[in-house]
Amino acid sequence: MAEYESKIGRETVKTLISEVLNSYRLKIKMESDTAFDEESISNDIKTLLEIKSVPTLRKVVNATGVVLHTNLGRALLAKDAIDSVNRVVTSYNTLEYSIKDAARGQRGDHVEWLLCELTGAEAAIVVNNNAGAVVLALSALAKDKETIVSRGELVEIGGSFRIPDIMALSGTKLIEVGTTNRTHIKDYLSAITEETALLLKVHPSNYRIQGFTSSVSREELSAISKKQQLIFMEDMGSGMLINMAQAGLDGEPTVRECLQSGCDIVTFSGDKLLGGPQIGAIVGSSEIIDKLRTHPLLRALRVDKMTLAAFESTLRLYLKGDYDEIPTISMIRKSEIELKKRANTLQKTLKTYFANTKLRSVDIQLVTAFDTVGGGAFPLSELQGYAVAIRLPEMGSAGKLAELLRNAPTPIITGAHEDKILFHLRTLQTGDEKLIINAFDSFLNANDDQKFKREK
Ligand SMILES: *Cc1c(COP(=O)(O)O)cnc(C)c1O
Repeated sequence: MAEYESKIGRETVKTLISEVLNSYRLKIKMESDTAFDEESISNDIKTLLEIKSVPTLRKVVNATGVVLHTNLGRALLAKDAIDSVNRVVTSYNTLEYSIKDAARGQRGDHVEWLLCELTGAEAAIVVNNNAGAVVLALSALAKDKETIVSRGELVEIGGSFRIPDIMALSGTKLIEVGTTNRTHIKDYLSAITEETALLLKVHPSNYRIQGFTSSVSREELSAISKKQQLIFMEDMGSGMLINMAQAGLDGEPTVRECLQSGCDIVTFSGDKLLGGPQIGAIVGSSEIIDKLRTHPLLRALRVDKMTLAAFESTLRLYLKGDYDEIPTISMIRKSEIELKKRANTLQKTLKTYFANTKLRSVDIQLVTAFDTVGGGAFPLSELQGYAVAIRLPEMGSAGKLAELLRNAPTPIITGAHEDKILFHLRTLQTGDEKLIINAFDSFLNANDDQKFKREK
């Protein structure tokens, strides 16, 4: 027990032991024939203490080929961004201090001008995340008024971000127009009343309606809103700052293009296609953004210094044009040739490794694979990539093998295709190949009598 006490403290150990004992008591009360003996109780206690003694937010290897995997933490930070977070948290800093005036400064100043520079906006403001950006904008601009949204855009993004709920929370009345697949300009026009404050366009992010569809362009919505003195806002979700048509991703505007098409304000996330930390940005007209600056919600959604440091550095990489220093952008833009080369190396490494294990039947192949951007961006675009596919019949099904790899000291999260598991090269980071070998080693060489070194 001393070992656990040193890790989680005596009080926690006591609480966890009582938890196990109580669950036994309860079971025995409910079913009097419940088996219990000292050994199983002490095993259950040990298992629970073991689980609670290691951190749960930990590193994993993403071999799924999904670049912005929401469950695996979305965007990886650029090295510059990590360095500035480190500097800012290990020293006092200028978070809200103006060196020039020896007086209080604004924390937003570090990034707002950069956002303006990169998007052509007049003004910008940042909050904790994009959901917060949407709530702040709607609360400050359309509370107790009406907001018009197309029925084709009443989306749920996941993680409980649903447009109708967000509107209700913001105190604006949702006026739905059009149908799921088709919304016309006349639908918006006939819905506008004295009470209308805002026209909202929402990026459908993780899904697409295809076939007999029609929606109203930004230019048209902008023209209506100007004429009727409304605000035209777009929730873009993923804030793309540079065009990625070259990487096979087209059909989506950048933030700058949205503003050029007539959006008054645009909201987007920092940790999707932008490739920075979790943040929500609102860019656009300074007259409108000034209305957000005094809203009490802004304080509740305030951005932390670590986030600002990482965001400033990431935006500066865009300014310099060092796009490939941003892991998200660089992973998306990886060439097929490079991915194939790395797949080849991984395949060789694995073959060499398995030649020295007891397994007789090992099937390792280099395959083409489709990777995806993820994070609700470009749901229909597949990035042509490469993967190493493995089948180890002696270890059971693909599902079983995936589970073993997930439970390795550094968990490996794999893709799957039919009866094989896949290691997609696009999302593997430097050093991950070694962690994959370590993962196999953790269960193939788990105990010595299983171990079998082939004689050379
Ligand atoms: C992702 C997304 C959100 C939520 O953004 P967070 O930064 O995760 O809060 C909101 N709207 C759209 C359209 C999105 O794609």
